[in-house]
Amino acid sequence: MKKITLFAVIILSVSACKQSDQQTAENPKDTIYTGKNSIKYTCPMHPEVVENKPGVCRKCGMELVEKE
Ligand SMILES: [Zn+2]
Repeated sequence: MKKITLFAVIILSVSACKQSDQQTAENPKDTIYTGKNSIKYTCPMHPEVVENKPGVCRKCGMELVEKE
């Protein structure tokens, strides 16, 4: 029974996450700025470095982080 309970908890957690994602996506104001295609990646040390995909900073080699 323990395994079944754990499984149920995992399913509930995942579906809860999906629901919150959908709610965010359905908000038109947020979608304009946080759409999947508009995610930018920037260097924590060099805000002027902005890329459209994950990678490393061309100036210092640090891993780029998602820009909010
Ligand atoms: Zn940098």
